[in-house]
Amino acid sequence: MFGYSGKILHIDLAKRKSWVEPKAEPWYKTYIGGTSMATRLCWENIEAGCDPLAPGNPICIAGGLFAGTPVPVGGKWGIASKSPLTGFIADSLSGSWFAVALKRSGWDGIVIHGASPDWVYILVDDDVVTFRPASHLLGKGTFATEEAIREELGDDQVRSATIGPAGEKGVLYANVTNDGRQAGRTGHGAVWGSKKLKALSVRGTGDVKVADPETLLKLALDISKTAQGPYTEKYRVLGTASNVLNMNRLGLLPTRNYQEGEFEHAESISGEYLKEHHAVKTVACAGCPIACEQMRRVNDGPYTGAMSGIEYESLYAVSSNLGIGDVRVAIKLIELCDQGGMDSMSGGVTLGWAMETFERGVFKKEDFKCKKYPEGFEPNFGNGEAAVALCEMIINREGIGDLLALGTRKASAKVDAERGSETYKWAMHIKGLENPGYDLRGLKTFALGASVVPRGGCHNRSAAYDVDISGEADRFSVDEKRGALAKDSEEYAAVYDTLPLCKFIRRCFTGKADRAGAWPVIAKLINATTGWDMGYDDVDMIGVHCITIKKAFNIREGWTRKDDHLPWRTQHEAMTKGKSANCMVTEKELEYMKDQYYEAKGWTKKGLIPKEQLVKLGMEDLAKEIGV
Ligand code: SF4
Repeated sequence: MFGYSGKILHIDLAKRKSWVEPKAEPWYKTYIGGTSMATRLCWENIEAGCDPLAPGNPICIAGGLFAGTPVPVGGKWGIASKSPLTGFIADSLSGSWFAVALKRSGWDGIVIHGASPDWVYILVDDDVVTFRPASHLLGKGTFATEEAIREELGDDQVRSATIGPAGEKGVLYANVTNDGRQAGRTGHGAVWGSKKLKALSVRGTGDVKVADPETLLKLALDISKTAQGPYTEKYRVLGTASNVLNMNRLGLLPTRNYQEGEFEHAESISGEYLKEHHAVKTVACAGCPIACEQMRRVNDGPYTGAMSGIEYESLYAVSSNLGIGDVRVAIKLIELCDQGGMDSMSGGVTLGWAMETFERGVFKKEDFKCKKYPEGFEPNFGNGEAAVALCEMIINREGIGDLLALGTRKASAKVDAERGSETYKWAMHIKGLENPGYDLRGLKTFALGASVVPRGGCHNRSAAYDVDISGEADRFSVDEKRGALAKDSEEYAAVYDTLPLCKFIRRCFTGKADRAGAWPVIAKLINATTGWDMGYDDVDMIGVHCITIKKAFNIREGWTRKDDHLPWRTQHEAMTKGKSANCMVTEKELEYMKDQYYEAKGWTKKGLIPKEQLVKLGMEDLAKEIGV
């Protein structure tokens, strides 16, 4: 086989042993790589129904088909487990040299089973696996851990995926970090922490063999050239923070825990402001000619020297969403999250919930006692000092940080049970995963898309916001086409997540983010890598297979139609300001759109996958375990 080694590495942390599982070509043709292959590995290796923080929940890692080849933006890897935050599939991607090392080490995927009795890190040195003590690394941040392992091994070519203190302490939205990039959302870091796994280090020295190197190189060079042109300019110059002013103009910028969609200090947290006052440099994932990550530093005030890579989704969560207009606080908060190994989106949205809960009188000052503030403090919206203190408390699970480490769904349920309150009304999550940086009330198609995404509230797994924002659909109303549009956007995104290729390349094929220009080129890339003979329809099926395995995973874990929901606020409270004022997505509208979506997918009215469809997709082996 070209492009693959045909081997999955299994590692048992409890028994300290490893073994090899061969896989045949048809398996790769169905699951390819990235989130799809990682989810399939999870399907095959998990104890269905297990506690996500128990040894029966494996860590499943899948390489990228194009990692280690000249294909630009293909240096990515996927990871899946059962999420401790949602109880459903946790699937994430990360772009880094770790992906290249993994590919060069000769493994298409790695499955880590069980739990270690003591803190360890694993070294995969090509085909040799060793377990190394890690108690001396405890408490270290994510970046510091990577550095310490490199020094310890005396090799700066070793690439490590690590967890920080948040993962060690089981914050349910802890991340796994590598080369400064995050495999974020859904709590992978907590799963690693539950296994006492501080890091996975890889040294890969082999070649990556492809079927047609000349054609692949030519295609890669052509794409790289376009990727440095106008279609990616906004990412190269401002990064994704360029979205701040656009979202604010549309009345969609989450403000004060999604109460409004317009923020009076949007200018001072914008990508433009950050570039002018805080620019340091741009950084790229492995093999990326775009380099969208904008490093920004604080140059004065109490957080002088704080520095972080700023993405829109982290930025809105810790600035407008907390009513904080001082972008220096946002840089500090993102630095704390990244180094602590904590998802800044879920962290920011959970802080927003805590601030609103305080402002509405459910939480009192004394609930916020900690070592630094023995009398407690008052975390009103806009209070940056309080936000920084709370962020540190979550990472260390100190005081109320222990509750906030559970995320908005579990924290609100606990508080409401204990205090008789109704804080669930402002807990902004879908399936337990905190919402992304778009107010769904003003984006009807994306509201549907986000509600049905298997991993929960997410902007990456459904591209349906493109449909609303581009004007392809009226974002303020519902019609009979929304189900098909949400289905198409989700499967479109899933093709990129499976290969994986960074979606920021999506306009570099024809200038439009659509299948027509991209799929023929992507088919050529796949064929030149593997020697297969894929065409347009085969590329399209990559996305269908990906969504099917994730959905099957969720069904096996007990998913029902009511799990495709929206936050209470999105359905019952309209915004009062800006261009999306007076909008909501009513329960009737959502149920109507879900009917359309399930029908477009060829699923039952209950949202279940019929056996005939699995047979048609060549995935009939899933049928028995999901009861069809
Ligand atoms: S565009 Fe940005 S996110 Fe995408 S691969 Fe390049 S650096 Fe990474």
